[in-house]
Amino acid sequence: MADFDLLVLGGGSGGIATANRAAEHGAKVGLVEAKRLGGTCVNIGCVPKKITWYASRVRDAIETYGPGYGFSADNVNFDYQTFKKSRDAYIDRSRQSYTRQFEKNQITLIEGYGRFVDAQTLEVDGKTYTADKIVIATGGRPKVPNVEGRELLSTSDDFFAWESLPESVVIVGAGYIGVEIAGVLNGLGVKVDVFEFQDQPLAGFDQMLVDTVLESFEDQGIAFYGGQGLEKFAEEEGQIACYANGEKVASADKVLMAIGRAVNTDDLNLEGIGVQTDERTGAILVDDNHQSSVANIYAVGDNINKVNLTPVAIRAGRQVAEYLYNGAASGAINYDNVPTVVFSHPALGSIGLSEADAIDKYGEEAIKVYTSNFYSMYTSAAGEREACHYKVVCAGPEEKVVGLHGTGEGMDEILQGFGVAIQMGATKADLDSVVAIHPTSAEEFVTLR
Ligand code: FAD
Ligand code: NDP
Repeated sequence: MADFDLLVLGGGSGGIATANRAAEHGAKVGLVEAKRLGGTCVNIGCVPKKITWYASRVRDAIETYGPGYGFSADNVNFDYQTFKKSRDAYIDRSRQSYTRQFEKNQITLIEGYGRFVDAQTLEVDGKTYTADKIVIATGGRPKVPNVEGRELLSTSDDFFAWESLPESVVIVGAGYIGVEIAGVLNGLGVKVDVFEFQDQPLAGFDQMLVDTVLESFEDQGIAFYGGQGLEKFAEEEGQIACYANGEKVASADKVLMAIGRAVNTDDLNLEGIGVQTDERTGAILVDDNHQSSVANIYAVGDNINKVNLTPVAIRAGRQVAEYLYNGAASGAINYDNVPTVVFSHPALGSIGLSEADAIDKYGEEAIKVYTSNFYSMYTSAAGEREACHYKVVCAGPEEKVVGLHGTGEGMDEILQGFGVAIQMGATKADLDSVVAIHPTSAEEFVTLR
């Protein structure tokens, strides 16, 4: 008899969700975690990032908007170490809640790095554990290029461990992570330069959102160098010098690589046990039910490289547990129309297709686009005028909403409800049928003409 009904490899968002849901349905579960329970999101991702984003918004409230509302706060001091202590304490509390949940659900936490011995056996620090089913949820890690001066480079993992803020940072890559970290660092007073392979940041997002990032970078004094990678780094005069085409193009106290993430699948002995992976990315190949090429092995989260977001990993993990231990018809989830927010300054929100992708899919004549551009009351009343841009992309004669995008005050909280509407197949007429909440920014989404 196996030691467990289910072993979960990796204790991040996806692994914890799988383990808890399976145990709630009576499975005997063990979870193997090499580092800290909570994985990327809680320890070195979404959570510390969002708290840092809040910190930069507090500063904005005090320094940028406060004076217009009559508040004066001279000599404002920001103590990074106090901030970091509060952030770390919040994360510790989150981790403790996971441990308590495991105790309640009688899940065995196995601490150490796990590798497959065979399809039903994991080896962790010299000990072996067996299970009928295994779910792989090992996530990913930041990519660092193999270039001269590689040892000088930081990643988002290092960023959250910094004990003090540098005066200047070069960020390489302007996807989600590059854009978000550029915004929070700048908001906390650090000089930031961004270099990106593509001509523009946030490849694949609606152009309205991309333009907003470029405008906000310009307003905030963040230098953006599009179409430019960096190929060599060297320590010079107490800073890190960055080179492109043999020439020094920038230098800063720190260089942070945000050039994408690699999947953690290369050291699990997957090939040895017959689990197939994508040749190019190493991502585990799964069917709709998240089942791998080996029948009793499933995979969820970033290591399948579909939609690399925490709530997606959690949903997939829970659904696999429902399928395996509660008689659900399938282990599949819907990867379409996943709402997403980039926690930039201002925040950007997006659901569904960009205008360009909608035109590609349905043809230009089938697409109708509604937009609104305005200044948020919160910033305007302080005399600061931060622009908000809203866009709804509709398809077909019934004007089904196939894309919804927005920037500005409150976007991080506004988007969720519109996600429900779009999942339900909302049309433009459905949006219009709702009475607006006034005065808000969100009301623009239901009053577009
Ligand atoms: P992870 O959370 O990475 O967990 C994998 C776990 O497996 C880790 O704890 C790792 O230590 C462990 N592990 C790996 N290999 C082994 C092994 N062989 N043995 C034992 N343990 C192992 N998503 C959002 O939705 N919103 C956000 O705001 C957001 N912000 C982010 C900010 C940053 C800086 C980053 C890096 C990511 C962010 N993400 C965000 C993405 C999100 O963090 C991931 O999509 C999510 O964590 C994926 O969960 P996962 O369970 O697949 O993997
Ligand atoms: P992304 O893949 O989103 O972006 C990386 C960018 O860096 C790409 O535009 C890439 O261009 C560019 N790039 C690659 N190599 C270089 C180089 N050497 N020099 C300059 N530019 C380069 O990766 P991220 O690391 O930003 O994010 C990883 C994932 O984490 C996200 O896709 C998202 O799923 C998740 N995440 C979610 C967040 C949220 O929900 N708010 C926040 C943070 C992360 P090219 O494509 O040409 O290689």
